[in-house]
Amino acid sequence: MSHSHSPSLDPATRDQLIQAAFAGRDRAYSPHSHFRVGAALLTTSGEVITGCSVDCAAYSETICAERVAIVKAVSEGIRSFVALAVVSDALHAISPCGPCRQVLREFCPLNLCVFLAPADWTARRERGDALTGVKETTLVELFPMSYDEGFDLPRWSKAQKDERASAKNAG
Ligand SMILES: [Zn+2]
Repeated sequence: MSHSHSPSLDPATRDQLIQAAFAGRDRAYSPHSHFRVGAALLTTSGEVITGCSVDCAAYSETICAERVAIVKAVSEGIRSFVALAVVSDALHAISPCGPCRQVLREFCPLNLCVFLAPADWTARRERGDALTGVKETTLVELFPMSYDEGFDLPRWSKAQKDERASAKNAG
């Protein structure tokens, strides 16, 4: 698979981000699903923001770890991200659900680095297999043709359209 469009992370930063996602997973509130998920976002300033899944007895109000991490960051004034790691209790990589992909798209660049690691990643890493079982992808690969991409809505003023165009070129 080619990731030439993706600004990949150095291995130490990637491993720290995955470890942070596990720390998030360990704080998950999962009395109903018994399925813990953790996420960690790397900001452009190098900060790591974690999230955990939060169950609710009325199941549909359960919130995913990815959205918890994003909302935490945005509520602290942080809206600029370069990478995301997601882990769970599953022994294979799991990927963000549809609604989370849309929320990630709201705040993250399409070339966001995404690392999806299996639950036994720490043991694999200790054996020298830090990348075994880790799926490395990008937001655009997870969410092609996403809503908002390239839209040109008539309600926007010319100034807004120009601003979008220059922001896009800058990104
Ligand atoms: Zn989700």
